[in-house]
Amino acid sequence: MWLGVFGQLTPSIRNVSLRLGVFGGTFDPPHRGHLAVARAARRSLTLDRVVLMVANDPWKKSPGRAITPAPDRLAMVQALVHGEDGLEASDAEIRRGGASYTVVTLRELAAANAGAELFLIIGRDLVDDFSSWYESVEIGRLATIVVVDRPGYVTDPQRDWKMLIVDPIDVSSTELRDAVRTGRDVSTNVPSAVCDVIRARGLYEAVPTP
Ligand code: ATP
Repeated sequence: MWLGVFGQLTPSIRNVSLRLGVFGGTFDPPHRGHLAVARAARRSLTLDRVVLMVANDPWKKSPGRAITPAPDRLAMVQALVHGEDGLEASDAEIRRGGASYTVVTLRELAAANAGAELFLIIGRDLVDDFSSWYESVEIGRLATIVVVDRPGYVTDPQRDWKMLIVDPIDVSSTELRDAVRTGRDVSTNVPSAVCDVIRARGLYEAVPTP
């Protein structure tokens, strides 16, 4: 029985060879680009699970714009991964509260899954700024960093990182928020289950106040 990456397992069977992908983000909203990355990472890196980790407070982004409440973003990510083999949404950073630091999340995952090998999946747009992440060197010790190509970004990953090539999907959450707000159709890039959550909760209808 799978208990989730933060579940309790009997010590004798604890995750000796578990390969766990961690794909963090604001997911405001999640889109087909995110799904393609998670699926490709799981397949190419032969991961047992890929956890889509919903940031509580994405401290790099939140000073610049209003972020949709975390429970709404979590509901959208749950809809995104529903029925997807090996993909799961996690609310661990939301439960922890405050600013979401990847290093803390990785430490918690390592502690809850002794013996597991961790892979941190990031888009290529984040490579330039990675060294400014909180305890970035420690992040590299806790997990293998896997960079996923993203249209429009060219910075090469560091030498000990992996590069994962996926079929590029040129979409961002920013353009989707604008599209919903101005009444344009987003169904090409947002799965219908996520669109249902957006509609039911009335998300992105107005310009949020920071
Ligand atoms: P925003 O436009 O609001 O800044 P975003 O589309 O970049 O958001 P995030 O939730 O910030 O989405 O992204 C989470 C992770 O997914 C990050 O590692 C990001 O680099 C990666 N990512 C997002 N969109 C794509 C894409 N189209 N292709 C590859 N990686 C992506």
